[in-house]
Amino acid sequence: MTNTAEPFTRWRFDNQFILQLPGDSETENFRRQVYAACYSLVRPKTAAQPKLVDYSKAMAQQLDLTEQDCQSVWFTQVMAGNQLLPEMQAYASCYGGHQFGHWAGQLGDGRAINLGEIINTQGQRWALQLKGAGPTPYSRSADGLAVLRSSVREFLCSEAMYHLGVPTTRALSLVLTGDKVLRDMFYDGNSQWEPGAVVCRVAPSFTRFGHFQIHSSRQDLKTLKAMMDYTLRVDFPHLGEPSVETYLAWFAEVCRLTADMIVHWQRVGFVHGVMNTDNMSILGLTIDYGPYGWLDNYDPEWTPNTTDAQGRRYRFGHQPQIAYWNLVQLANAIYPVIEQLEPLQQALAQYASRYESQWLAMMASKLGLSHLDEQEDELWVADLLRLLQDAQLDMTLFYRGLSQVQVDSEWNVFASLLKACSYLDTVEEHFYAAKSWLKQYQKRLLADNQSSEWRLLTMEAVNPCYVLRNYLAQEAIDAAEQGDFSKIHALQKLLENPYQAQSGQEMFAQKRPDWAKQRAGCSMLSCSS
Ligand code: AMP
Ligand code: MG
Repeated sequence: MTNTAEPFTRWRFDNQFILQLPGDSETENFRRQVYAACYSLVRPKTAAQPKLVDYSKAMAQQLDLTEQDCQSVWFTQVMAGNQLLPEMQAYASCYGGHQFGHWAGQLGDGRAINLGEIINTQGQRWALQLKGAGPTPYSRSADGLAVLRSSVREFLCSEAMYHLGVPTTRALSLVLTGDKVLRDMFYDGNSQWEPGAVVCRVAPSFTRFGHFQIHSSRQDLKTLKAMMDYTLRVDFPHLGEPSVETYLAWFAEVCRLTADMIVHWQRVGFVHGVMNTDNMSILGLTIDYGPYGWLDNYDPEWTPNTTDAQGRRYRFGHQPQIAYWNLVQLANAIYPVIEQLEPLQQALAQYASRYESQWLAMMASKLGLSHLDEQEDELWVADLLRLLQDAQLDMTLFYRGLSQVQVDSEWNVFASLLKACSYLDTVEEHFYAAKSWLKQYQKRLLADNQSSEWRLLTMEAVNPCYVLRNYLAQEAIDAAEQGDFSKIHALQKLLENPYQAQSGQEMFAQKRPDWAKQRAGCSMLSCSS
């Protein structure tokens, strides 16, 4: 371990959020409503005994850090919030949001502390944020802290999503604070002391829909406009200087980026779990990994979030509609500055058409076809989704295995795939439907007339071999809580190459085991984190 601040002298800070936006004049750290300001200056809480659990080499590289840098004492101190570099300006930002369809007023960075933005040697802007580094003016009744289990989940999943090609915020490091945090995991009155942790999140910007909503809800057009102008200048500079025209181009782009992100979620079987408007990134990045989950058996009705078990608002199959609903809220929020309804409505309509066309292209590639026709292919694709659901097929295994089914494959090739990835003992009951689907699929492959090499390459590039299955994350957490971080390291390494079958790693590409079906953390999660 080296003990030097040298790694960070390479970092060039350019804290535009603070430079360009109005800040809170109150500098004491107490919970309050913050008006006419986009952020409040805060200091991270000092962690008692920080210990580095893991870091992302891929992210570190993007930030011009070497492995040696990341193993230094300084790195752990900075990533725990114990040491601020001279150019860091720590702040929590103000945002609001709709939670589960209801306006919730001011929320804000209640346990995220921003450290500033750095420009890397490639000229890219990266904002750094510590999640779980203590209370801020936006912490409301909570403590500003995060526990190890939720931090492991965020750390592993955001990097896994990145390597899957899904737009996402990133994670640089995972640090244990050495402090204990009290949590009532099941909301049943049994609170427990759990290990505290901090994740350093990284993104070009952490701006959320709620950053615009809060000022609009208060009819504070001045701050709303400041936030919009800042976003255009810093996050969407290619659109030109702020004007009604560029605001509209910006909103249209947010609609497009959001549509594309949701198509990726549907492609890999990711369920966000809490698609509140404060958890929607203006850059179309997956943000705020809470009670998220991955589909094992394909089930559009599934949600991992116990808080949402009744209404299932954020279930897998509903994510495209919810994203649209959230975009409508964003349009409402920025309307007072734009005062033109029709182009906003047009952009929203384009969200729907963009989603449709991208979804079709995505499904075509998952199935190894050059394209799908909205009308002609609609029925047999719907038949497939019904089969996946009724026969309880493991989504990841099914699509990956489908590349082995050729235009001239016999029925038994497909039948053994179904047997291998169904969670039912009675999958044979679905063989009639499966046979008829296979016939249509093979007919379609024949008509498409692509080489089998092209088909295999196409399918293997979009159908992952490995995803962060809920039970795999839980096993890594169980071990970590006993002080063994090896499973975190193993998963992190594995998930750097999710599309490549890796020898000796077959156990990570298997169906969810029976024991995991009902276990907390492996099937359903609460928001407690
Ligand atoms: P989430 O449901 O995680 O998106 O959080 C909703 C709001 O609650 C955000 O404003 C968070 O910053 C805040 N929040 C969540 N957990 C905590 C916590 N432990 N301490 C303070 N604020 C929190
Ligand atoms: Mg959130």
